[in-house]
Amino acid sequence: MELNLGARRHPPAPGDLEPEWVKNPEAANVDVATAGLTAEKVLALLAELCEGETTYCEWCGAPFPIWPTPPWADHIRSAHADILTIAIRNAMDGLCMSEFTVAKQVYFGQQFIARISMRRRAWQLGVALVGPVRIVPRGVSN
Ligand SMILES: [Zn+2]
Repeated sequence: MELNLGARRHPPAPGDLEPEWVKNPEAANVDVATAGLTAEKVLALLAELCEGETTYCEWCGAPFPIWPTPPWADHIRSAHADILTIAIRNAMDGLCMSEFTVAKQVYFGQQFIARISMRRRAWQLGVALVGPVRIVPRGVSN
């Protein structure tokens, strides 16, 4: 999960102002600190960061917690199988499994970038790794 070498944050002290990166995903490169945690603890932490977050089925609008992924991913694969392409069904496999798959890691990362509430929770829990935004212009390597 750790994509940068930013310093680990600590839970905010009373009166600390919310950092800009909570509301602005372009303000910093933010990741979740998982170094040294067992797989079980990583999953528990991700579940805590996702607590209360809802997603909706794109086909029927049914609401689901975003984490863990199998309930909504299983719903899409079974309730809407007739309109899914084979490629989409295959892509959903990693989200339907009980293990922590690359697909789940990618999904979590997308949600973490998109949801202010999740980044705020990471800040409040002191588990955000914050580093500078690294912009690489097109056509330039390194
Ligand atoms: Zn549905």
